[in-house]
Amino acid sequence: MYYLKQILHQAKLSFIREIIVDHQLIDNIYEICMQYGNDIFLVADENTAKFLNQNVFNKISHLIIPAPLVIPARDAHLYENCDSTLPEGCHPSAQTLGSSKVDCKQHTIQHFRSKNWIPVPGTGMTSNASLETVNLVRNKAKDSDLIVALGSGTVNDICKYASYLEKKDYISFPTAASMNGYSSANASILVDGYKKSFEAHLPKGIYIDTDIIANAPLRLTLSGFTDFICRSTVQADWLLSHLLLGTEYNELPFTLVRDLEQTLLREYMQLTQKSTDVILLLMEALLVSGFGMVISKGSYSASQGEHMIAHAMELVTKDYLSLHGEKVAVTAITMANLQEKILSIQNPIIKPTTLNVEHVFDNSEFIKILEQKQIMQQKIGGIIYKEWNNISSLIKQNLLPAKQLQKMFEDLSIPHLPEHLSWNKEQYCKVVDLAFATRDRFTFLDLAHCIEESKIL
Ligand SMILES: [Zn+2]
Repeated sequence: MYYLKQILHQAKLSFIREIIVDHQLIDNIYEICMQYGNDIFLVADENTAKFLNQNVFNKISHLIIPAPLVIPARDAHLYENCDSTLPEGCHPSAQTLGSSKVDCKQHTIQHFRSKNWIPVPGTGMTSNASLETVNLVRNKAKDSDLIVALGSGTVNDICKYASYLEKKDYISFPTAASMNGYSSANASILVDGYKKSFEAHLPKGIYIDTDIIANAPLRLTLSGFTDFICRSTVQADWLLSHLLLGTEYNELPFTLVRDLEQTLLREYMQLTQKSTDVILLLMEALLVSGFGMVISKGSYSASQGEHMIAHAMELVTKDYLSLHGEKVAVTAITMANLQEKILSIQNPIIKPTTLNVEHVFDNSEFIKILEQKQIMQQKIGGIIYKEWNNISSLIKQNLLPAKQLQKMFEDLSIPHLPEHLSWNKEQYCKVVDLAFATRDRFTFLDLAHCIEESKIL
């Protein structure tokens, strides 16, 4: 993993002792864990626990949490031939950015939804990374000196946060290339029905068993692909904020994944054939992307407008059934279209807007952010007037066309329109319109609210 070594070297991320990629690593899990401590506590889910033999369970204290629902990849061709542009009136600034229509048959995926996860009675455990399960792990692992995560996003987040709160080391055995959180220092935890991001820490070691990663459910791997490939909309948003408001921006996380991204853009269909090489490339890209967040001192390099819409939709719909990357696929297409439309405006003028978000998000935090956003909007008029052509061409250099993203998602049968996730389109439009007020980051969602095409050309 050449790029991974580069980033570890450049970022001096020396607190990670090792990242090992090998066949059948899981067979040596006990010996690997013993390098870090004598009293080990392992967390797996019902699916990943199957990788271990009884011998390991006899020697290591453990907790097996309910398995997340991972249905097989959706039927091929299910999501093809859809017009991905947003319906008329759905753009944050519908009056000026042009209209478009969705001409796509409704796909029925209700049967996925009907198999909702069920909490295990009496244990406080769910198949989500809930605070209850984090507390359970903290209690059970009190006497241990190492917490071990054997699983993908949920297990990893639980162990990362529980070990951080208990000031213990943790190591990770990822079982799917499904997201970039294995190498990030934040944990995404469900609290009172809301998913929140908490400060946590990095694992001491990451152990990637190539046989397990390559044979992970395809839906998980594809979710990792979309969580990575939204790099394009992320970079555009982050760079926009930097160019307009002078906020900090760091190119390094993107430079380090550039070659990996190029290969994945060529070879992505190999993911469906479970090519070990390409899935490992994706895993490497996700790990570098995670470390990129550590370098950026926040999730700036991996989460911008597309993640803001996805999180806001999750908040509003409580959709914890769709995978993170599936939500991001839908919202990345929306952002890519929005960015292209705004960047094509020749002589924009700025008109800060006033908006009431209370009727959609019942959250006083958002009202405060909205006030900050309105101040930001007022600051950018001058620079847009003088520098828009330069700003626009700089941002365009790193963009992947929305059509290219959509074609890849269609080829891979990844849901990429709101209706593919059974999201109500009208509600989605509202959330797209107001998602800018959910975070203090300035993105194209903000710009869409205050930009107009000049009538005088
Ligand atoms: Zn993500």
